[in-house]
Amino acid sequence: MRAEHPRLEARLAALGIDVRSGASLSELTSLGIGGTTDLLRITKHDSIPELIGLLEHHDIPYKFLGGGSNLLVGDGELPWVVLQLVRPEPDVVLDGNLAHVDAAADLGRMITFCAKNDLGGMEGLIGVPGTVGGALRMNAGAYGMQIGSYVREVKLYRAATQKIEILRGDQISFEYRHTSFAPDDMMLAVILELPSKPYKEILKGIRICNEKRRSSQPLGQKSAGCIFKNPPGVSAGRMIDELGLKGLSVGDARVSDRHANFFVNAGHASAKDMLTLIADVRERVQKSFGVSLENEVVVWNA
Ligand SMILES: Cc1cc2nc3c(=O)[nH]c(=O)nc-3n(C[C@H](O)[C@H](O)[C@H](O)COP(=O)(O)OP(=O)(O)OC[C@H]3O[C@@H](n4cnc5c(N)ncnc54)[C@H](O)[C@@H]3O)c2cc1C
Repeated sequence: MRAEHPRLEARLAALGIDVRSGASLSELTSLGIGGTTDLLRITKHDSIPELIGLLEHHDIPYKFLGGGSNLLVGDGELPWVVLQLVRPEPDVVLDGNLAHVDAAADLGRMITFCAKNDLGGMEGLIGVPGTVGGALRMNAGAYGMQIGSYVREVKLYRAATQKIEILRGDQISFEYRHTSFAPDDMMLAVILELPSKPYKEILKGIRICNEKRRSSQPLGQKSAGCIFKNPPGVSAGRMIDELGLKGLSVGDARVSDRHANFFVNAGHASAKDMLTLIADVRERVQKSFGVSLENEVVVWNA
């Protein structure tokens, strides 16, 4: 999809939107899969209501990209443009136990920055790629913790009201890889309330989590983390492993040999390859265990 109307282009420029024509989503996602479209990079939160109004006026559908680490994007020319926040400088400001963080901030860098200032709690998320906005939307979690537990306030653009609003943490429900945000809400910034902890102690926790990831995940390969959510009380990866499906491939899409719930792009996998592999594994698990696996990876398919 192209954002290519002369009047639209002039307004986008006036709003400070940086348009990258024909951007390849394979270069913007950790799976390295995805077709092309125009990428609209947003430098000012305040420009968003007008930007969305313009896109709607010109019948241009849009999707919102964070760091691209939990996405499987379709092949070919994509039928929507992609919006992404540009990371401001600074992207984290501390005030006592409160961290004011822009949604475009890199999650890992934010955790390290807070740790160096004796603010902990987020150690489990070290090694989770992507942005703070993406982590909020997904309620990213690992090793018994989730980001939602630390949210004091979220600033977001709500498509329903076409306004930028503030929600208190207790107005949002954060569940396992699910939040009560509307699908078209855009996270813009968050205030996290983090417990005080000495840096040395946080670093110990960070090292333990790093080691757990290194020993169990295919970190050098292109993936989107876990493909399926764990059904209540069961591990999706364990079921896939028990069926002997590690190494199962469709084209270059492959079930990791290291972690059965990580599917990797071992070369030039297409979205079609990956979707076929996902459907195949889901069907086999359903047949053998009677369990219907739900995607954790977000699929943007045309
Ligand atoms: C090696 C590896 C390990 C991983 N380990 C974990 C793990 O332990 N735990 C875990 O939870 N996840 C894990 N993930 C998955 C992924 O990193 C997280 O889900 C991450 O929080 C996604 O953030 P992102 O910015 O990359 O989002 P994206 O992939 O860009 O987007 C994901 C979804 O969030 C939406 N989104 C992104 N930013 C915003 C925003 N600002 N406002 C509104 N919506 C937005 C997108 O529209 C999309 O629907 C892993 C991934 C990899 C590759």
